[in-house]
Amino acid sequence: MDIQRVGVIGAGTMGNGIAHVFARSGFSVVLCDVEQRFLDRALGTISKNLDRELAKGKVTSDESVAALGRIQPVTDRSKLADCHFIVEAATEKFEIKTEIFRDLDRLTKPDVVLASNTSSISITKLAALTKRPEKIIGMHFFNPVPVMKLVEVIRGLATSQETFDTVRELAIKLEKTPVEVNDAPGFVSNRVLMPLINEAIYTVMEGVATPEAIDEVFKLGMAHPMGPLTLADFIGLDVCRDIMRVMHEGLGDPKYRPCPLLLKMVDAGWLGRKSGRGFYKY
Ligand code: NAD
Repeated sequence: MDIQRVGVIGAGTMGNGIAHVFARSGFSVVLCDVEQRFLDRALGTISKNLDRELAKGKVTSDESVAALGRIQPVTDRSKLADCHFIVEAATEKFEIKTEIFRDLDRLTKPDVVLASNTSSISITKLAALTKRPEKIIGMHFFNPVPVMKLVEVIRGLATSQETFDTVRELAIKLEKTPVEVNDAPGFVSNRVLMPLINEAIYTVMEGVATPEAIDEVFKLGMAHPMGPLTLADFIGLDVCRDIMRVMHEGLGDPKYRPCPLLLKMVDAGWLGRKSGRGFYKY
């Protein structure tokens, strides 16, 4: 299928970035969220980010205006019915995604590929909710989407080669680098990153070193752009906990047990940057 019209469900942190990169690459985008205010906020963010790209010479003024003009914000999901491809980037809750995938399966033509940007929910499970499991796939972007080059392309058990090729080609059109991954808890990115963060938190809990010292070790010794505890604060400690729980439950290995200090900090409402306090104060 010639993909020209793309649906994006969820206009939050990831959805606005995904809409941005599709529109910048010439696709017309239908951006759907549950309330108009979320769409207004997303369009404001996209416009600001396009201005930043304009200032850096990455887009021309005409391209920026055209990209914004290609995004149609909607609260009515039926407007996605004629899309050629859809990426779901709604809140990370299985019940929410269940409702969305069942509805999209009913709403869209049977040959339309439905992708999820989920960080931790099984693509195989989402596929099983639909009558087109071979057309369900993970398209996992990274934050901030307009900047980060990686897209993990995740094959569920039933995902067809044709569906995989479609998404790989789309990622290349967006000037991203697709990396092939099979469906498993945490995929590759979180499977490797989250235990690193969790272990760094154990290191704080046991008094081996301060958060500042641990972050310095990773910045200066391993050339990481930010240390694991700064990164945990950036991602959100509640999100880190939830992903550890998914891996602990899904893989059954005690090595994925969330660190007790992580659980305690989330209980205290110290969620990182977004709440003003995590391993650092903001
Ligand atoms: P977010 O909370 O910023 O945005 C989620 C948006 O989805 C909200 O605007 C919400 O109103 C909307 N939404 C909820 N239910 C909806 C529905 N039924 N229909 C349409 N819209 C609905 O969340 P986010 O950080 O953008 O995460 C979205 C997805 O991307 C999640 O699956 C998350 O795991 C994944 N993800 C997040 C990151 C990240 O760094 N934030 C990175 C990679 C993947």
